[in-house]
Amino acid sequence: MCGIVGYIGKRNSLNILIDGLKRLEYRGYDSVGIAVINDENNTNFFKKAGKVKDVEEEFDREILQGSIGIGHTRWATHGEPNDNNAHPHSDDNRNIYLVHNGIIENYTTIKKKLIIEGFTFSTDTDTEVLANLIEYYFRIKNSIEIAVRLALNEVEGTYGLACICNKEPDKIIIARLGSPLMFGLGKDEIIVSSDAAAIINHTKNVIYLEDGEMAILRRDGFQIKTIQDEDIFREAQKIEFNLEEIEKGGFEHFMLKEICEQPDTVQNTYRGRINFETGLVKLGGLDSVAEKLINAKRIIITGCGTAWHAGLVGEYMLEQYCRIPTEVEYASEFRYRNPIINQEDIVILISQSGETADTRAAMKEAQKLGATTIGIVNVVGSTIAREVDAGTYIHAGPEIGVASTKAFTCQLMSLALITLMIGKNKNTIPDSELMKIASELKNLPEKIQSIIEKRNDYKFIADEFKDSRNFLYLGRGFNFPVALEGALKLKEISYIHAEGYPAAEMKHGPIALIDENMPVVFIAPKDSTYDKIISNIEEIKARRGKIITIANEDDDEIKNYSDYVLRVPKTVPIFAPILNSIPLQFLSYYIATARNCNVDQPRNLAKSVTVE
Ligand code: GLU
Repeated sequence: MCGIVGYIGKRNSLNILIDGLKRLEYRGYDSVGIAVINDENNTNFFKKAGKVKDVEEEFDREILQGSIGIGHTRWATHGEPNDNNAHPHSDDNRNIYLVHNGIIENYTTIKKKLIIEGFTFSTDTDTEVLANLIEYYFRIKNSIEIAVRLALNEVEGTYGLACICNKEPDKIIIARLGSPLMFGLGKDEIIVSSDAAAIINHTKNVIYLEDGEMAILRRDGFQIKTIQDEDIFREAQKIEFNLEEIEKGGFEHFMLKEICEQPDTVQNTYRGRINFETGLVKLGGLDSVAEKLINAKRIIITGCGTAWHAGLVGEYMLEQYCRIPTEVEYASEFRYRNPIINQEDIVILISQSGETADTRAAMKEAQKLGATTIGIVNVVGSTIAREVDAGTYIHAGPEIGVASTKAFTCQLMSLALITLMIGKNKNTIPDSELMKIASELKNLPEKIQSIIEKRNDYKFIADEFKDSRNFLYLGRGFNFPVALEGALKLKEISYIHAEGYPAAEMKHGPIALIDENMPVVFIAPKDSTYDKIISNIEEIKARRGKIITIANEDDDEIKNYSDYVLRVPKTVPIFAPILNSIPLQFLSYYIATARNCNVDQPRNLAKSVTVE
């Protein structure tokens, strides 16, 4: 998920690698490392938790000499972000050195096999398993190229990787599946990176690897193959973008980039954790509390801001599908109100950063009262992730935009997985329904992508409403918290006042605000609440409010009630909040940009609120 650099040529590689790592910094990371092959064909390395600028002085420039090297900025997915887990990783014999972005899903199975073969492990990462697997094949085939190929045919998951080998010190092997990787062609040198930002100051001629491809890079040339050993011929392309454009992946803002990443990030949350045929969910981090979850009499979910909204959706999920009484609390309230909690209770803490001060304090309070605590966290090794009794990572990758988007939908996916896991074990979800939900999961990334492709439709609506002073967001059931989140997004980045309400509650107060200047966003998918929502829309229409609806693609009727319709594909109710959130993210994004607001860093807000 983070950054890779590599160099093979005639120059000393260290400065080029360090410079490359600095150019990848914007992506967010927790640790850095470099490995360089010296003239005696030995590899030296240095790795450490922290930022490049903080650890740069500690790189031993005399030892790290050599004209072939690899470097990495890690954003931990497996194992805490400490010195030991930083990349590069080597096999137990220190022949292979590997930097890797992504996740090896079947690493536990492979690790068991390698332990039987006598391999030893010294880190908690999935990457070290791959390094040892490559070495395992190297010992059999005596070729690094073949070893990497055989290893990659055995792993499941995602990777962008660069690998060097003491016994074949004249090459770098790189490969890609689901995590970008490219190399730039200089004069007698090749620079590898996961991101063009680290290449463009050396050369503009770049070759992008495609999924399922690997390349063997030498000082005087390269060869591209598929991991099935078929040759690939590809010309270099000229990079036309400047540094800023590259960092944002061609998007105008990080927030837009992160909204558009959601087909991948949502998939990363469930990847390797569910059997699509049976619906069986396996969340390794919850193994130790699975029994307690299944027998839970009460669950309390807590968090702040967007995470609290995710919790509210979780409440609907857990109550509907698992029949477990669930309460949702603001962490800031929970911690101070002397909550009635006992040892039987389960407290779920949701935090993107895992450092949110109020959520941390709520965790301590729950632990003091004897409850079992479970974290739903993005940042691996963060305080909440370390201190809860059990937990699951959402694997959204670094989120840089201050207003949370992809972390929210990944939190929803994590809650859905927990729900399915409990529901299957408790038999509260019939097998037929479970199978339907599981098979729908496979379609979800494509459905998210179809919403993203229509994003330009939002600009017109944004122009129409950019000067509105208030907005109302209304939804029912699962979609009531989505309405709250939609309103929060708009407030955060456009500074327009917005409120979310359960649609029927509108009559009990907010309806007084409705006039021809009030835009009202209805979340109106064709579900069991549809007819009721239509009645609520009529009530607003009668008072001349402007109506924007989020509706299913096949819903023709809705046009008769709406000034604007934003379409989402139909899905099963448990995933509807994920799809329905995305138009609301776009709506707030385009309104904020039409108002010239700084969407990535809205005024007065911090990404991670680590103070009370
Ligand atoms: N899964 C690997 C780890 O946790 C790679 C993480 C990354 O992409 O930075 O070390």
